[in-house]
Amino acid sequence: MWRSAAAVRALRGGGAGAPRAASGAAAAQLRQRLESELEDIRGAGTWKSERVIASRQGPHLRLAGGGGGIINFCANNYLGLSSHPEVIRAAVEALEKFGAGLSSVRFICGTQSIHKDLEEKIARFHQREDAILYASCFDANAGIFEALLTPEDAVLSDELNHASIIDGIRLCKANKYRYKHMDMQDLEAKLQEAQKHRLRLVATDGAFSMDGDIAPLREICQLAQKYDALVFIDECHATGFLGPNGRGTDELLGVMDKVTIINSTLGKALGGAAGGYTTGPKPLIDLLRQRSRPYLFSNSLPPAVVGCASKALDLLMESNAIAQSMAAKTQRFRSKMTAAGFTISGKDHPICPVMLGDARLASVMAEDMLNRGIYVIGFSYPVVPKGKARIRVQISAVHSDEDIDRCVDAFTEVGQKHGALR
Ligand code: PLP
Repeated sequence: MWRSAAAVRALRGGGAGAPRAASGAAAAQLRQRLESELEDIRGAGTWKSERVIASRQGPHLRLAGGGGGIINFCANNYLGLSSHPEVIRAAVEALEKFGAGLSSVRFICGTQSIHKDLEEKIARFHQREDAILYASCFDANAGIFEALLTPEDAVLSDELNHASIIDGIRLCKANKYRYKHMDMQDLEAKLQEAQKHRLRLVATDGAFSMDGDIAPLREICQLAQKYDALVFIDECHATGFLGPNGRGTDELLGVMDKVTIINSTLGKALGGAAGGYTTGPKPLIDLLRQRSRPYLFSNSLPPAVVGCASKALDLLMESNAIAQSMAAKTQRFRSKMTAAGFTISGKDHPICPVMLGDARLASVMAEDMLNRGIYVIGFSYPVVPKGKARIRVQISAVHSDEDIDRCVDAFTEVGQKHGALR
């Protein structure tokens, strides 16, 4: 029997598209438990709210419901490529030529020529034998350890590694060792303990995103050589801009031939769309295509996303001018802030954590900064250790010197107001 839309809505008991709560005791119990957990998060002061942006990602933003003219200092858009006209054009062209998506995983019918081209380009960029694409670097990290390591092997991981490395390691059956953050004595002790295993893999972030500090890769590679271990680095906060040609931490520290495996993202400096990859020895990449679960059981990267990353890599391989300009701006910000009386953690990295200590102070100051048109975010426990709250500032090549100076001026004003200067 035909019924009008209104009649159908009346029968369903809600307006068009109205949410329908599941009924039953189990659903009610779940809802109660979730609400109490959410209340705990709010009570602990660790609730993360999301600001809605009504413009493209870039140095200057318009927030939904608010005015424009906000200077953005909290994106991983290190090179400003997420709104670069050539990157956008490449995405549109790929979308038109190759469609919206593959509706398939890679090994069924989800591999297009652009996926193979991008993998070849990534390997060439890093001077490695081959590369494999994932939907994200989180997936690349989730997929590598389980495919590579068995209970006969060992993995040694920096205690402050990114959550995705920690989760990837959890999924594998290798023997797990956690060494103190960038502590080479502790790593050496753990490597000695791990000598009994067949293979040892040291896993570290190249650059750590909370502190803006860079892993001592030279020393790590020396220890790896001494104890016959392999080195894996996550280069999400390094690819495209660290090192003389933006190849990353291994280039910066002169150990490109000593690091075996690199995982990185296409979602930060390389156009900022999405996607991740592993690059390294060809047999490893071949094995990942056969065994890595996030690769085997998840959809291919959409053509537009592939187009963005591919163009970003072209731009970086043509010239290192963008990376150099970002380095100069980072230097400007770090030195002016230090002169103003702030403590900035890390060294030479565009992640510039303004160390404040107190969680409330970090959050109130971040709010005051936004009132002055500067978008920065405060981080506190559990994201960073207790008593080490900070405001993380991220510099981009597309910030002007004037943007940087406005940020420093606002910090100085807000810091004085709250007694946060040295
Ligand atoms: N590894 C590190 C060090 C990261 O900072 C991130 C993202 O925040 C990831 C991995 C995950 O990258 P993606 O966003 O591509 O999943």
